[in-house]
Amino acid sequence: MTQDIDCKKYRPEQEYTHAQELIDNLPYIVMAIVGSSILALGFGFSFLGWILGGLYIIYVMAGTFWIIIFVCPYCQYYDTRACPCGYGQIAVKLRPKSDENRFMEKFNKHIPVIVPLWIIPIIAGAYFLVIDFNLLMLILLIIFGLNSFIVLPFLSRKYGCAHCPQKDDCPWMGKNPLIG
Ligand code: SF4
Repeated sequence: MTQDIDCKKYRPEQEYTHAQELIDNLPYIVMAIVGSSILALGFGFSFLGWILGGLYIIYVMAGTFWIIIFVCPYCQYYDTRACPCGYGQIAVKLRPKSDENRFMEKFNKHIPVIVPLWIIPIIAGAYFLVIDFNLLMLILLIIFGLNSFIVLPFLSRKYGCAHCPQKDDCPWMGKNPLIG
């Protein structure tokens, strides 16, 4: 929210190339693939396992569009190349610009919709390991944890969000329980 930012908090914005946007999205793509693999493997790559793995990927995609539709229209980077992941330019095709003063309210309201994406594979994978230890499941679980809880927030904080003038006021940067 530009009007709330004093000069001490100001950081220069930058415009992102499509290659940089892809880098910003890579951890989410890895999360979708590994998370769905955990579910499919846990059910022995049965029909049910593939269905659940597919549903997880659909949830990831739906969650992305949920944020694009319900949060991005309130962001100052809506319809700009300063959005590190490119969602702001997709949002402009789906929703009109909305009040930037309500960004944090919308962020806090809608982020819980996607939080289970981080939790479902961890709980499911741990359950599968306990009932029937499988080395591949353990490896997938470790990859999922490292990617989703370390690489993804690290990239967000040090790369994508690092240039954001809203970073000091942003709930994702300040108090998101997933990234500490
Ligand atoms: S910076 Fe975040 S909230 Fe803003 S347009 Fe990009 S993805 Fe949406």
